Amino acid sequence: MAKMIIGGEAVDARSGAVMEIRNPATSELVDTVPKAAAEDVRQAVEVAHQAFRKWAETTPHKRAEILYRAAELCREHLQEVAVLETKEQGKTLRESQLEVGRFIENLEFYAGLAPTLRGEYVPLAEREKYGLVVKRPVGVCAAIVPWNFPITLMGSKIAPALIAGNTVVVKPASTTPLAAIRLIELCNQAGLPPGVLNIVTGPGGVVGEELLVNPLVRKIAFTGETVTGRHVMEVAARDIKRVTLELGGSDPMIVCDDADLDAAASAASVGRFFNCGQACLAVKRLYVFDNVYDEFMSRFLPRVQRLKVGNGLDKDTRTGPLHTAKQREEIEHMVEDAVRRGARVLVGGKRPEGEEYANGFFYLPTVLENVPHDALMVREECFGPALPVFRVRDLDEAIELANDSKYGLGSSIWTRDIGKAREAAERIEAGYTWVNNLHIAYDEMPFGGFKQSGYGKEHGIEALDYYVEKKSIVIATTPVPAASAPKKGE
Ligand code: NDP
Repeated sequence: MAKMIIGGEAVDARSGAVMEIRNPATSELVDTVPKAAAEDVRQAVEVAHQAFRKWAETTPHKRAEILYRAAELCREHLQEVAVLETKEQGKTLRESQLEVGRFIENLEFYAGLAPTLRGEYVPLAEREKYGLVVKRPVGVCAAIVPWNFPITLMGSKIAPALIAGNTVVVKPASTTPLAAIRLIELCNQAGLPPGVLNIVTGPGGVVGEELLVNPLVRKIAFTGETVTGRHVMEVAARDIKRVTLELGGSDPMIVCDDADLDAAASAASVGRFFNCGQACLAVKRLYVFDNVYDEFMSRFLPRVQRLKVGNGLDKDTRTGPLHTAKQREEIEHMVEDAVRRGARVLVGGKRPEGEEYANGFFYLPTVLENVPHDALMVREECFGPALPVFRVRDLDEAIELANDSKYGLGSSIWTRDIGKAREAAERIEAGYTWVNNLHIAYDEMPFGGFKQSGYGKEHGIEALDYYVEKKSIVIATTPVPAASAPKKGE
C-alpha cells in the first residue's frame, strides 16, 4: 500500500482508512492509498509550518542544489514512475514518459532561477537613508492538483514554491496519487529537510477543504475545474490567502485558407486527442475557412481514423481510455446533445467494440460538423476525445466565434500571413496564442487563463512572483530620532 509523506515519514491515515486506485483501461486494482481526514491534513500543515523558518533561511543556492539532485534521482526512476502513471491515469506510456520528463525539467528550470531571487536597492530623498526591496517566501503553500496531468501540474507548483523558500503540502486528485507520491518520496530522498515537501491523499471535499481553511496555509495553487476554482477563491478570500487558479479551457484553433493544411491537420489531431482529449490546452473548437474546409477535412479525418485506441501500456496504442466512467458519460452526453441539435458525426461517436475494451472507459476519437454554437460541447469545456469543426467565412468571423466563450486559456491560428497572425494574436482573448504551432505550454513563458480560465500565472520567471512577498526595508545609516522623522507617508 502506498503511503502519504508527512515530515519526511511514510504514514497512513490515523483512522487507517484507505482508497482504491484502479486502472481505467482494465478496472484492475493498482494499489491503495490512505484516505486522510482533516486531522491528518492539519498534522501535515503543522509540520510544514515548523519546517518553514529554517528552509526560508537556507540560501537559494543550497535549495537549487537539492532540486538538481531531486531531478537527477527522478530521472533515474523515470520509467518506473511512468508505468505507475499509465496504470493509474490511463494515458499511453509515451505520454507518461513525456510528463515525468517535463516534471524533471521543471525542477531544473526553477533550480536555475535561484540567482534571480534578488531584490532592489532604492535611493531615497535623504542621503543618510536608503531602501531595499527584498523577496520573502510566503509560508506554507498548498498545491491542489487534478488527475489529467497529475505530475507536470504538481511540478509547476512545487518547483517555484520550494526554490523561493516555501514549504509545501501537495493534495493530488483522489484517482491519481501514486506517481505523485513516488516523486515526492524521491524528492525527499534527495535531501529536502523533513516537512519541507509533504503529500496528503483523500477526498477533495475533506482534504482539499482543510487546506483551504487552515490558517497556517498562506497560499493555494490550484488546478482543476472552474467550478471548484471559484469555490477555492471564495474560501481563500476569508483569510485573504494568496491564490493562483489554473482552470478549464475551450481552446479555439483557426485554420486560414493560406495555411499549411497538412501541418494544421496534424496539429489538430494531436492537439485534440493527446491524453484522450483530457487536456486543459486541448484544441476544443476548430474553425476552418470555408474555401479550404473540404481540402482540410480530407487530410484531417484519415489521421483521426488511424488513431489506435487501447491500453496505454501497449506500444501501438495512440490514445488510451478516458480516466473515469463519469468522464466518458460526460462526453457521450455532449455528443448526444450536439447530434440532437443537428450535428453530424464524421468519425467515431461511440465506444469501440471488442473484448479488450470491455472493462475500460474507452471512447473512439470523434469529429463532428454542423454543431450549433449553443451546443453543450461548445459552451462548456469538452474534456475528452470529441471535436466540433466549424466553417467560417473569414478571420473576423473566426475571431468573433473564438471569443464567444467564457473561457480564455489557449488558442492558435494557422496562416502564412504575418498580418493575420498578428491580428488574431492581439484580438483573441486567451493567455496563449500559438501561430502555426501545437498548443503546448513552455516552462520559459508565463501560462495562465483570461476570463474564467484562471487567475495568476504558472511557468516562466513570472511564476516566482506568486511565491514571494515583496518587502520594503528602510535603512538609516545614522539613527534617526523620532522627532526629526518626516510626516510623509503616515
Ligand atoms: P476538479 O476541480 O474536480 O479537482 C481538482 C483538484 O481539486 C483535485 O485534487 C480534487 O480532489 C480537488 N478538490 C475537489 N473539491 C475540492 C474542494 N472542495 N476543496 C479543495 N480541493 C478540492 O478538477 P478535475 O480533477 O476534474 O480536473 C480537470 C479540470 O482541470 C478540467 O477542467 C481542466 O481543464 C482543468 N485543468 C486546467 C489546467 C490549467 O492549467 N488551466 C491544466 C489541467 C487541467 P479530488 O480528486 O479528491 O476530488
